[in-house]
Amino acid sequence: MSQILGLKTGLTYGPVNSRRLGRSLGINILPRETKLCSFDCVYCQYGWTGAHEARPGRDYGLPSPPDVRAALEDKLRSLAEPPAYITFSGNGEPTLHPLFGQMVDEAIAARDLLAPAARTAVLSNSTTAGDQAVRAALLRLDVRIMKLDAGTAATFDRYSRPCPGVDLESVTRGLEALASTAPVIVQALFTNGKNGNLGAAELEAWRARLVRIKPELVQIYTLARGYPDKDISPASLDDLRTVKRALDEPGIPSQVF
Ligand code: SF4
Repeated sequence: MSQILGLKTGLTYGPVNSRRLGRSLGINILPRETKLCSFDCVYCQYGWTGAHEARPGRDYGLPSPPDVRAALEDKLRSLAEPPAYITFSGNGEPTLHPLFGQMVDEAIAARDLLAPAARTAVLSNSTTAGDQAVRAALLRLDVRIMKLDAGTAATFDRYSRPCPGVDLESVTRGLEALASTAPVIVQALFTNGKNGNLGAAELEAWRARLVRIKPELVQIYTLARGYPDKDISPASLDDLRTVKRALDEPGIPSQVF
């Protein structure tokens, strides 16, 4: 098990060479001192969640939209070449910021001004896709990469470890609504071990949810960084190819990373 990552300390980070996006400049609109997330995934590169909430329970000193606009413009001006992507990610689930919609608008304005060829994106755990205001903000971005790692409620609870009030069926319905109006990329991280998410029945249930969601692409991958749960281990390339084959028959495009 490699090392758990430290939290992001600034409003922007990178550009990093992302496995799935290429050269991506990250935006962190979440707390600096703790991870804020509605999930507590067994594989989270930041370790266990400090603030495990479906909505921020206190202020956390979250940045304002003008702060983020200024930081993003400063960063873009400092780069020798623009990034391929400007991506909301960072210390947890970015859509939990109460002003996420305004953040998206500020990021788009900064991009239009200083890096017009860059695409805006989000890495989200999908728990807020059922919220109409969040969904409207997600639709203004160029790329939506949304997590769905489980097919059954039991695996969802054990693997994604949602906070109270978040359930797999609502997440699936939110993704269906989102994907019915704009292309959605689903990302799914597979692991072996007692707390992993592989197995024929689980895979079939997961595939059935993707058939409902109709994503434009599914990104299939496994552990590449540190993780907190000792009862998971990386999936093999064969495992990942088995997952991909399961999506071929219903005609859902997928890629193994
Ligand atoms: S959704 Fe992302 S940030 Fe949240 S616990 Fe899972 S991996 Fe970590």
